Amino acid sequence: MSHATTQPDLEHAIEIAWRIWWVGHHFPDDPFQCHSYLIEHGDQSVLLDPGSALTFDTTLRKIREVIPLERIRYFICHHQDPDITGILPQLDQLVTRADAVVLSHWRANALLKHLALQRLPLACVEQRNWRLDLGGRELQFVFTPYLHFSGAFCTFDPATGTLFSSDLFGALAHDTPLFARDETVLEGIRTFHEHYMPSQEILRHGLSHLESLPLRLIAPQHGSILQPPLIDTVFQALKNLECGLFLLTRTNSDYQRLSNLNRMLREMLHSLVIHRDFSEVASRILELAKPLIPVIDLEFFALTETGETLHLAPENGFHGVIAAPPPECRAFLGMHRDHWQRNHAGPYLITPYPAIPGISGNVEIAQGLVLPLFAPHNDLVQAVVLFRLTGTLTMDDEMAHILTQLSIPLGVALEREIILRIMEIEQKRNYERSIRDPLTNLYTRYYMHEALARLCRIHDRDPAASITVLAFDIDHFKSINDTYGHARGDEVLRIVARILAEGVRNEDIPVRLGGEEFFLFLMATPDEIAIDVAERIRERVARQRFAPPMAERTVTISCGIACRQVGEAMEKAMERADMALYRAKSTGRNKVVRL
Ligand code: GH3
Ligand code: MG
Ligand code: MG
Repeated sequence: MSHATTQPDLEHAIEIAWRIWWVGHHFPDDPFQCHSYLIEHGDQSVLLDPGSALTFDTTLRKIREVIPLERIRYFICHHQDPDITGILPQLDQLVTRADAVVLSHWRANALLKHLALQRLPLACVEQRNWRLDLGGRELQFVFTPYLHFSGAFCTFDPATGTLFSSDLFGALAHDTPLFARDETVLEGIRTFHEHYMPSQEILRHGLSHLESLPLRLIAPQHGSILQPPLIDTVFQALKNLECGLFLLTRTNSDYQRLSNLNRMLREMLHSLVIHRDFSEVASRILELAKPLIPVIDLEFFALTETGETLHLAPENGFHGVIAAPPPECRAFLGMHRDHWQRNHAGPYLITPYPAIPGISGNVEIAQGLVLPLFAPHNDLVQAVVLFRLTGTLTMDDEMAHILTQLSIPLGVALEREIILRIMEIEQKRNYERSIRDPLTNLYTRYYMHEALARLCRIHDRDPAASITVLAFDIDHFKSINDTYGHARGDEVLRIVARILAEGVRNEDIPVRLGGEEFFLFLMATPDEIAIDVAERIRERVARQRFAPPMAERTVTISCGIACRQVGEAMEKAMERADMALYRAKSTGRNKVVRL
């Protein structure tokens, strides 16, 4: 019989395996469903986890649908909690047969004796060699200490492959079908165990005893009954369960929220380890945080060794650009942990939304959550994370705990990122320096070679992408130096360079080749226009007035022009431009010659 899709009628006893009956009480809308099970075996029948005053009326009615109560000889209590044993004093009155017995572990019995049962004796499973012979059917007891109390055990029925697992495989869920339908059952199992299981080691130890059993059905005392293939799935999930969440529970008993917080933290830590790319780390953290806090985006401001601030934000793909931090964050950067703690209650600060331009667009931002990341070596705030929130955040102990937990590895990941980013920025700066002449800010010979190699390849493929070479040289520059001094000479170089750079388009390449020689490379420019450009520059230099003592001095330049042929070495074209320049010089200077 398949229970996979329809919920059976919970008003009656339900046969879940051969002569095994669910006789529990169904609480509507209770995430803690409590199950009792009956093994029907003539007058050696067994009731597992009898129940409490809340449940037993229904349980008794359901038992009687199957057999009279008097047929039950054994009352197995997997642990001593009231949801299982609460009814024992009444059962003590109800049960009439003399050989009836309550079976449990001695650790439970040590407590159950305080119920002072008159008729029902307490027996220990471990003294029966962990077995119960019903005559033609033998049950096995499996010791699973500390799952969830020191004397915990499970009962296995080899005849049907049914494991009565007590709290192991239990689940907490608002919609608890009697038979688990699919993997969604895992969520409730995870939630339940994260709270009850003290450690993964203990859990795995317990599971290892059960793994070798030929399991066909798992009947837990809470939650849903499991069938294959879910049994395997749940086994694997439990083996990897994060245990000990109750350590987090201080003021809050919203187990679902705690469980989600815990999962978020775990996954965040995991993503810090697996993602090398910081933008992935950031977007994963955002994604994980969204179900828990009303966050819309996050950004980082980090101090670098040079005292600059690196801004990592969605708009720069979290690559980080040097930017001045907003005043709200500037105050925190570099602050000592003691100072932070004196001034702010927790590991975070909720502020009215700081007016930082970001990517939030038109979304209304209610608050900013500022999380400081301290440098481990000096306890100074090396970075702050700013979460932008669209709603109001309820900050409790657990959330604060999560934020503290998160801030440590996040700080490490960010520090690693800052080192990489600063190296990149330095490299970029060095490159910028290498391609710009410091006196005139024109391109250097180094850059010229790099750019021309690229442009020649384009020209070779596409003759229309022509390259025109303009060679400039200041006339009688030596005499400027000689007359007014080297510094004045430099000033002239700067002014001529500026005129050169101003006279060209973005894609053209003005170069200071050295001394007072300049080159200008024009892309896809017809001859007449190239000559016009050269003439205009020549005229502007000639018209340029200089400060005293050079007020009366006119500076002129000469220019030679040549065009690169497709397939020609660039140097050849430059040589021809030089020859044209020489012609300009030899024929009077202050002129443009096109070869
Ligand atoms: P011509 O008209 O034939 O080009 O004559 P010129 O004097 O300009 O030519 P020449 O090549 O003889 O002189 C170039 C001078 O430029 C010589 C050198 O001292 C000067 N010079 C080279 N680099 C710099 C520099 O960075 N700053 C200054 N102030 N002078 C420089
Ligand atoms: Mg010269
Ligand atoms: Mg010269």
